[in-house]
Amino acid sequence: MRASAAELGVGFALRAVNERVPQAAPRLGAVSKTRPADMVIEAYGHGQRTFGDNYVQELLEKTSNPKILSSCPEIKWHFIGHLQKQNVNKLMAVPNLFMLQTVDLAKLADKVNSSWQKKGSTEKLTVMIQINTDGEDSKHGLPPSGTIAMVEHIKANCPSLEFVRLMTIGSFGHDLNQGPNPDFQVLVSLREELCKKLSIPADQVELNMGVSMDFQHAIEVGSTNVRIGSTMGLLKETCPRQDRS
Ligand SMILES: *Cc1c(COP(=O)(O)O)cnc(C)c1O
Repeated sequence: MRASAAELGVGFALRAVNERVPQAAPRLGAVSKTRPADMVIEAYGHGQRTFGDNYVQELLEKTSNPKILSSCPEIKWHFIGHLQKQNVNKLMAVPNLFMLQTVDLAKLADKVNSSWQKKGSTEKLTVMIQINTDGEDSKHGLPPSGTIAMVEHIKANCPSLEFVRLMTIGSFGHDLNQGPNPDFQVLVSLREELCKKLSIPADQVELNMGVSMDFQHAIEVGSTNVRIGSTMGLLKETCPRQDRS
C-alpha cells in the first residue's frame, strides 16, 4: 500500500514537530474506523500500537479478528465514539481495550467502573473526559463547567478507572485567520483550572485534540494526543512516542 502525497505530508509534519520538541512529542492515535483489519496489521507492523474506533460493534468485530489477535499482541484499543450505557458491557469485552476517550456522564463512569471490575482485570481502565467545548447540542460531551466535579467523581467513586486526559472534538473547519481555534483554547484553560483546583501536576493531565485536518494547529497550542483517520498513510513515515498512549 502506497501513501499518497497528502498522507506523507502529515507524516513529515508530525516528524518535524517531534524533532523540534522531542520531549513534548505528541502521540498518534490511528483511527481505524471503516478500515479493514489488514490495514491495522500493516500499521502495527510499522510500529503503530494505538488504534481507535467509534462503534462498539465494529470495534468488537475488529478486535476479535483472529489475524489481528495473533499479529498484534501489544495493540492498545481506544474507544472514541459516543457510548450508551446499554453498550458498556459489550465494550468491556473488547480484547486489548486500553482507553475509553468519551466519558461524559457520572452515571456512565459508574457503569464502566463496575463493568470493568466484574471483568476482573488487574489493570485500571484509562479514561478521558470528553468536553463539549463549543456547546453545540448536536455534540456529545460534558459542558466545560462540569469538568472538575467529574474528575472528583471518578477519583472518589471509580477505583477501577484512571483519569488521564481531556478530549474534545471541537468545531470543524475553523478558519485560523480568525485566530486560534477557541475549542482548543477552552481545553487548554480547563486543564489549567483543573490542575490548580485539584493540585494535580499539569503534566499528568494530557490533552487529546486535533484530527487530520487540524492536528498541526492543535499541537502548536498544546495537544499531546492527536487522532488521525483519513490521512493514516503517514504511519509508515512516523511513529511518535508509544509508551503510554
Ligand atoms: C473519525 C474520527 C477521527 C479522525 O478524523 P479524521 O479527520 O479522519 O482524521 C477523530 N476523532 C473521532 C472521534 C472520530 O470519530
